[in-house]
Amino acid sequence: REPKSVLGSDDVRRATTRMAHEIIERNQGLDGVALIGIQTGGVWVADALGGEIARIDPDSAVPVGSIDASLYRDDIGLRPVSPAAVSDIDFDIDGITIVLVDDVLFTGRTVRAALDALADYGRPRAVQLAVVVDRGHRELPIRPDYVGKNLPTSSDENVAVTADGVVIS
Ligand code: 5GP
Ligand code: MG
Repeated sequence: REPKSVLGSDDVRRATTRMAHEIIERNQGLDGVALIGIQTGGVWVADALGGEIARIDPDSAVPVGSIDASLYRDDIGLRPVSPAAVSDIDFDIDGITIVLVDDVLFTGRTVRAALDALADYGRPRAVQLAVVVDRGHRELPIRPDYVGKNLPTSSDENVAVTADGVVIS
């Protein structure tokens, strides 16, 4: 299939800026809010959102971490597990609001696994979900709180998401 550019780098940046504003607004400031990117595609997005939030609201320090959900997947054993990804959460998640961050939301199974992985670290007050692209085809009752772009896709398509843009092929 011919690759089709859906968003350019400016669009991705604007979407990230908007989501940062929405996260600040929804949480009435950022007291007790942290971002956690889902390995591997969500890590740069969490960093980008953290950077935007710091730019918009320099007085609030929002911790950013990452989580590897691969050992918690319901299809473990059916597919290879990447050994490189690791979780990195150097703050206490008990009682805080976690914004889970990923590049693409598809069936929802990765987010379900990430929620399971997160439970090993403690009990957040609430968990929200931010994704750059929601491509549909959910298989679980999971919906994002913050969306860069709703992108209708067919199941066999692939969406490439980077800071340089979004390409569907
Ligand atoms: P799900 O678990 O919701 O089926 O799929 C979402 C996870 O798989 C995300 O962690 C995402 O990184 C990856 N993913 C699924 N579909 C795509 C896609 O089209 N493009 C990219 N870049 N990642 C995808
Ligand atoms: Mg991923």
